[in-house]
Amino acid sequence: MSTILVIGAGGVSSVAVHKMAMNKDIFTDIHLASRTKTKCDAIAASVKQRTGIDIATYEIDAEEVPAMVNLIRRINPKLVVNLALPYQDLPIMDACLEAGVDYLDTANYEPKEEAKFEYKWQWAYHDRFRENGLMALLGSGFDPGVTSAFAMWLKKHKLKTIRTLDILDCNGGDHGQAFATNFNPEINIREVTAPARHWENGDWVETPAMSVRHEFNFEDVGPRNMYLMYHEELESLARFVPEMERARFWMTFGDEYIKHLTVLQNVGMTRIDPVMYEGKAIVPLQFLKAVLPEPSSLGSTTKGKTNIGDIATGDALDGTGEKTFYIYNICDHEEAYRETGNQAVSYTTGVPAMIGAAMMLTGKWQGKGVFNMEQFDPDPYMEMLNTQGLPWQVKELPGPLPF
Ligand code: NDP
Repeated sequence: MSTILVIGAGGVSSVAVHKMAMNKDIFTDIHLASRTKTKCDAIAASVKQRTGIDIATYEIDAEEVPAMVNLIRRINPKLVVNLALPYQDLPIMDACLEAGVDYLDTANYEPKEEAKFEYKWQWAYHDRFRENGLMALLGSGFDPGVTSAFAMWLKKHKLKTIRTLDILDCNGGDHGQAFATNFNPEINIREVTAPARHWENGDWVETPAMSVRHEFNFEDVGPRNMYLMYHEELESLARFVPEMERARFWMTFGDEYIKHLTVLQNVGMTRIDPVMYEGKAIVPLQFLKAVLPEPSSLGSTTKGKTNIGDIATGDALDGTGEKTFYIYNICDHEEAYRETGNQAVSYTTGVPAMIGAAMMLTGKWQGKGVFNMEQFDPDPYMEMLNTQGLPWQVKELPGPLPF
């Protein structure tokens, strides 16, 4: 019997909660709390209709630690799954420590006033979680999340060492809108407009945002322009796969997206510092979020596929010299929508969040302290990806990326 409390009621939460209800042998009692209770109720109604399972819902401001502690004590879950926003990571971890319960999330902490995400704030909780006999699992989405499990699977089954790693994230979906982001617009735009950073010879190399571009032909999607970006799993991979000479992250963007983003940036609409408007301080990026389509509303119109994976080069385990492998998942937006009512970007994040929770609740992944995906055996996680809607494939390439 495992009681679970999920925080946040956006697209990722919706997928995770649907998938938990579809795995009722593991998640026997599901509770959902968020800032806007009506959004929790809408998810609960869809889950009831699709699976017959009842979900209890609550209103909570996750930044109010005492209120969170009360809610956790009332429900008494084995695990709190944080699918709200990165800003809430630390208050929810504080509440978990005080109430004595395990923690999981899909995105690392980011202070509201600075577009800078780093693991240091959450890694600093390691001793307190360990001393309290609790476990926190960080970053169990697709990227971060599955991309690290992919790298560790290659390291376990194909490569003795990883010399170079490239993570390629392609969303080949078309939502029919001139400009929209497929997860929280504020978080997405902060990430995309930050300088690019990659790991090379033991150090971070910084380049201006969106300044390095290459074309890549993605299976089931076709050729797309992908841009060098910083992404949070590079930090944990650099720590837990220390032999890597180079690790990079690439994401595809269409010309329309780039054009709109450039204009928005040039006119100051992506600023995260407050400006005075008619006597009231407003943050332009937060105002922009309010006028952009809700990512969860894009599900019914999005067509196409996502293709996300890792290309790793290193010494083959079987002693046959240097080899390159490409491991990836392809996810169809329309199929994802049919199953849970959400598009593939929410689906590819919500399913791994559910799987990470399943790893903890079934005891397949155990520990005391704060952990990243790279620290656990990838096999049971990878098996569940295959059975829970995100099947993966691996193939050998003639060599690493030519750039
Ligand atoms: P949404 O913006 O759709 O949903 C966020 C939810 O959190 C909303 O329901 C929101 O409430 C709620 N929330 C915000 N602030 C609070 C608060 N103070 N207290 C309680 N609830 C709050 O985001 P997504 O579903 O797209 O993304 C969820 C998370 O997943 C994010 O952290 C995102 O960064 C991460 N992510 C990770 C990916 C990965 O691969 N690892 C990929 C994509 C996303 P309200 O409805 O009132 O606004």
